[in-house]
Amino acid sequence: MSPDALLPSAFEAIPALAAGGRPAVFLDYDGTLTPIVARPELAVLDPAVRGIVRRLSEYAEVAVVSGRDLEDVRRLVDLDGITVAGSHGFEVRRADGTRVVHAGGEDLLPALASAGDALEQGVRAITGARMERKRFALAVHYREVAEEHHAEVIGLAATVARAYPELRVGRGKMVVELRPDAEWHKGRLVAALASEHRGSGGGAVAYLGDDVTDEDAFVAIEDLEPPGYAIIVGERASQATAARYALPDVEGTAAWLTALVDALQVDRD
Ligand SMILES: [Mg+2]
Repeated sequence: MSPDALLPSAFEAIPALAAGGRPAVFLDYDGTLTPIVARPELAVLDPAVRGIVRRLSEYAEVAVVSGRDLEDVRRLVDLDGITVAGSHGFEVRRADGTRVVHAGGEDLLPALASAGDALEQGVRAITGARMERKRFALAVHYREVAEEHHAEVIGLAATVARAYPELRVGRGKMVVELRPDAEWHKGRLVAALASEHRGSGGGAVAYLGDDVTDEDAFVAIEDLEPPGYAIIVGERASQATAARYALPDVEGTAAWLTALVDALQVDRD
């Protein structure tokens, strides 16, 4: 089923987004700005898309909010003058260069190191499974694992998580993660950034994401008063989602960002 059959196209939101004060646009990275690839290190940002995001940052507050490590997503995005958040918002580098780490984050590093060793041992026994040690999470990617062994990967993560009460299991597209069991997710960060934006006289707010971890952000956007524009990218748009608008794929994201920049330029120039 085409996403557009269920949710209106995100292009319908552009006139309202461009009409008010300086808008804020929050963007997930993988699956939203870049296509999902077999290995996370191959998810390189298309220079043309980087150019659009740079142009957008002249007219809007822009933040990239990723599950990747902050330094990893910063290196991939490679743009100054925008906010970049890693580890689902656990670590943030603001446009002005200041950094914020969620309180208590550093205390979790010993548990993450030790759980990482346990996880790594199990991962070695599963063909195709790849472990990634992030600063505030441990990820096991299973896109290259035979389907009949997927449950084994998820079971392994659950077993290790049981030994570390300060960590919990989180799921994404072909990835299972051990993350801090903190009251923190993309939605909390997006709510904080959005209220800061609104508080300083900013205009409408939009969030674009493709995965289950983006649902918290969609809810946060919908809970704003007045609500923002929650936009789902890709095939998950045909499933239950808190998003109100859809784009078919990452090419759709690029086209949408371009159209938004054009509309903002017309409005502001
Ligand atoms: Mg994503």
